[in-house]
Amino acid sequence: MEEKLIGNKTAEQWEKESPVLADAASLRETFWINPHYKKGNPELSLCGVSPADMDDASNRLTRFAPFIARAFPETAKDAGIIESPLREIPGMLDFLKKDRDVQIPGRLLLKCDNLLPISGSIKARGGIYEVLAHAEKLALERGMLKESDSYDILLEDSFRKFFNTRELAVGSTGNLGLSIGIMGAKLGFKTTVHMSADARQWKKDLLRSKGVTVVEYDADYSKAVEEGRKLAGPDCHFVDDENSKTLFLGYSVAALRLKKQLEALHIPVDAEHPLFVYLPCGVGGGPGGVSHGIKRVFGSNAHCFFAEPTHAPCMLLGLVTGLQDKVCVGDFGIDNKTCADGLAVGRPSSFVGGVMDTLLSGEVTVSDEQLYYLVHKLADLEDIWLEPSATAGLMGPPGLYGTEAGKAWLGGTDNATHLVWATGGSMVPAEEMRKYYEMSDIAS
Ligand SMILES: *Cc1c(COP(=O)(O)O)cnc(C)c1O
Repeated sequence: MEEKLIGNKTAEQWEKESPVLADAASLRETFWINPHYKKGNPELSLCGVSPADMDDASNRLTRFAPFIARAFPETAKDAGIIESPLREIPGMLDFLKKDRDVQIPGRLLLKCDNLLPISGSIKARGGIYEVLAHAEKLALERGMLKESDSYDILLEDSFRKFFNTRELAVGSTGNLGLSIGIMGAKLGFKTTVHMSADARQWKKDLLRSKGVTVVEYDADYSKAVEEGRKLAGPDCHFVDDENSKTLFLGYSVAALRLKKQLEALHIPVDAEHPLFVYLPCGVGGGPGGVSHGIKRVFGSNAHCFFAEPTHAPCMLLGLVTGLQDKVCVGDFGIDNKTCADGLAVGRPSSFVGGVMDTLLSGEVTVSDEQLYYLVHKLADLEDIWLEPSATAGLMGPPGLYGTEAGKAWLGGTDNATHLVWATGGSMVPAEEMRKYYEMSDIAS
C-alpha cells in the first residue's frame, strides 16, 4: 500500500526535514521560530485587512457602546466598551524562572480577557463584534437606523421584532458559541449554535437558558462547522470562524486599546524595549486578529508568538508545511484531544495562516499536564483563575529564553515586556474550575 501524502511528501519525509514536525507528531512540547517572518514594518494592507478597516471596526464598537451599556449593565462602568484589564504577574514570573530553570529578563504582564464582560473570553471581541456588525447592516439597509443615532434604540421592540425574523448560526468548541449566542439572543435573532464534542455542558445549558438552539455533535470543531454551514438557509447569517474578516477585525481592535493601557502604565514599546506577546491559538482568528492589530500599532517593535496544545497544533502544522488548511493534525497521527477545549481545532484557518505567515515570530506547544499545572499555579500565586486553554501563552517566555532556537533568535534582548494573553475563564462555574485546579495534583 502506498503511504499517504501530505502535500507532496509523506509524514516521515516532513518530519525528517523539519524537526519541529517530528516533535509535533510525537506530542513533544516544542518551540519554533518562523523562518518566513519579515523584518521591518509590515505592509498590512496586503493581507486584505487594512488599518482603515481596523479604525472602522473600532468606530463601530463605539457606536454600539450606548446599546451595550444598557443591555449589559456590567459594562456600564466602562460606558459600554467591552475591555479587559492589564495586570503585572511578578509571582508567576518568579515561578516560571525557578520551575523551568531559565533566566527571563523583563516584566511579565497578563492581558485578562478572562474578565471580558458578557461572555468571559477573547470571543467577546470578535464574536460579539460580528453579531453587532451584522445587526447594524440589516438595520441600516432597512432604514430603521442611522449611524448618528444613539444605538440604545436597538433595545426597542421594533428592532427585536425585526431581528426575530432573521437567523444567525455558528459552529463552535464553546466560547464562540457563547458570545454569538448571548449577543444574538439579546438583539432578538433566531440563533443556532452547532457545538463540537469538546464543548462543555455548562455552556450548552447557559445558551439554552437564553433561548438559543444548541445542536450537539459527536465530532470535532471542523465537523460542527461543516454541518452547521450545510443546515444554514439562504437567509441565515453563518458566522464563519475559519474565514471571517469581520471576526478578525473585531479582535484586532484590542491592539488600539492595549496601546493606551501600556501608555497609562508608562511601559515603553520601542526598539530598545520590545513587546513580546504570547497568544493561545485554536483556528487562528482570535490570536491572528489581535496580532495583526499589534503589528499595525507597534510594527517591528512587537513580536507575536502563538501557543497551541501538543494534542492540537494545527496552526503550527499549517505554517511549517506551508499547506495551511490542506493539512490537519490527524495527518501527523495527532488526536486533537485536549483539555484546552477552546484550542481543540484540528485544521487551521487558511485566511489567518496566510496573514500570519510573515507576521508571526514563532510558536510554542504545551502539554495538557502543563496547562493544568499552570491553572493551579496561577490560582495559588496570583489568585487568577483561567480555563486551561487560556494559560498556554505562559509557556512562551520559557520557550524563548530556555531553548536553543529561542536564544539564538533573541541574541541578548533583556529589556523586553512579556505579555501573555489570558483568553478565558471567568464564566467557568466554580465547581468546574475546582476540577481544573485539582487536575494538576492528579497529573503531577
Ligand atoms: C477561541 C479561543 C482561543 C483561540 O481563538 P481562535 O480564534 O480559535 O484561534 C483561545 N482561548 C480561548 C479560551 C478560546 O475560547
